[in-house]
Amino acid sequence: MTMTTSRTEVLVIGAGPAGIAAATAAAENGRHVIVLDDNGSAGGQIWREVTVEETASPHRGDATKRQAIERLRQSGAEVLGGRFVFSADASGALQTLQETSSGSLVEQFRFEQLILATGARERFLPFPGWTLPGVFGAGGLQALVKGGYPVAGKRVVVAGTGPLLLAVAAHLAQDGAVVSSVVEQASLAQLAPFAGSLLSDPAKLMQGARYRAMLWRTPYRIGCWVVEAIAASDGQRLSAVRLTNGARTWTEPCDLLACGYHLAPNTEVAALLGCAFRGAFVQVDQAQRTSRPNVFCAGEPTGIAGLEAALVQGEIAGLACAGRSSARLEKRAAAQRAFADAMEKAFALRSELRSLPRKDTIVCRCEDVAFGSLHGYTGWTDAKLQTRCGMGPCQGRICGPAVEHLLGWRPVSVRQPLFPVPLQAFCFQDEKVELDEPIEEKA
Ligand SMILES: Cc1cc2nc3c(=O)[nH]c(=O)nc-3n(C[C@H](O)[C@H](O)[C@H](O)COP(=O)(O)OP(=O)(O)OC[C@H]3O[C@@H](n4cnc5c(N)ncnc54)[C@H](O)[C@@H]3O)c2cc1C
Repeated sequence: MTMTTSRTEVLVIGAGPAGIAAATAAAENGRHVIVLDDNGSAGGQIWREVTVEETASPHRGDATKRQAIERLRQSGAEVLGGRFVFSADASGALQTLQETSSGSLVEQFRFEQLILATGARERFLPFPGWTLPGVFGAGGLQALVKGGYPVAGKRVVVAGTGPLLLAVAAHLAQDGAVVSSVVEQASLAQLAPFAGSLLSDPAKLMQGARYRAMLWRTPYRIGCWVVEAIAASDGQRLSAVRLTNGARTWTEPCDLLACGYHLAPNTEVAALLGCAFRGAFVQVDQAQRTSRPNVFCAGEPTGIAGLEAALVQGEIAGLACAGRSSARLEKRAAAQRAFADAMEKAFALRSELRSLPRKDTIVCRCEDVAFGSLHGYTGWTDAKLQTRCGMGPCQGRICGPAVEHLLGWRPVSVRQPLFPVPLQAFCFQDEKVELDEPIEEKA
């Protein structure tokens, strides 16, 4: 195992839109910037590969992405992909693991200021059959399709909650899938005020209308949810889903189910550093400062608000690292925070989803822990110690938000390593390390 140390003035974790905007603003204003991401290249979730906007309208999504990535390149910020941040401390150092063909590389990065732009992941809820082959996360299936997974001619039900469902369904339809239903668990009463608020945001309204137009033959079933994924006679693959609107239950044949319940913020690094939280989200001020000195946070960990908010918040954080601010950007960020709060209410999970798992329904997929084995415990730590729920490779990223909705338990603490790492990675942290050459002055 090779181990090295680097240092920088501004370190950004996450090369999604928020991290790209943050790194660009800081570097354009004279700061030495390194950006780390566990993916191979910059782009994050939405700019992973080709987006619906790019293929549907080359003048829109494509331009935003191209400009952002080109500006990042020209800013001089250095992007290091394939690095998993597994440990961090508030004294100004963090550690990453990179798996290469020649072995594992552990790197330590020392920084003066840190920007957390770690994004969000899909939230999954267990129901009978959700572990069958053919059942995917909604964004997960979209990511696979962007990577070349063929869906042409396949019947797909897209279900769960949140605006991502329409984006995913439109993407799949464009790749030739037959999207038979989009199934949204939120009720009309929840969604109507949110839809009304979009009237003051023509860009978002147009985006929704564009997705809907691409799915004009597909029913958008509001107030409906998946009760069960049904296996084919061989028991090895999905053949249908059982859906309900609470009053009526019916079966819809399909080859694939893409199911996700909005997003859960990636706040593990923030928690490790001891940042204060506002509910599930990292608390920040108008300059995206967290409660920890010299630690900023931008994008989805501060509230699920979409692409524009990630770009604006990232730029504010990057400027703040260079001692600058922008009243115009701060005003936009405040409006976007209100949008995030409205979205949180609109797509709040209904209580009926708590009664879907049976005793034998797997909740923790890493450790094969069934719902029935979680009964009788007082909370997350107790259940974790006795059942190993949340102790597998994903470290509770999948089952944590599910258990929170099902049983109301929240993890009490986050500990390093955030991802499984070889034991030697910890030896490194005790060593006294030589730093790289001093940072060069930028012209
Ligand atoms: C699966 C999925 C699909 C989505 N698809 C769409 C879509 O089609 N259309 C749409 O409008 N919005 C989509 N979104 C929402 C979109 O991602 C956000 O609106 C916005 O772009 C978020 O930007 P961000 O920079 O905050 O986060 P992200 O784009 O998520 O970027 C965060 C980055 O940080 C990295 N990271 C996190 N933790 C670590 C760590 N410990 N070490 C190293 N790197 C780390 C992540 O790998 C990621 O690359 C999707 C979200 C998800 C989760």
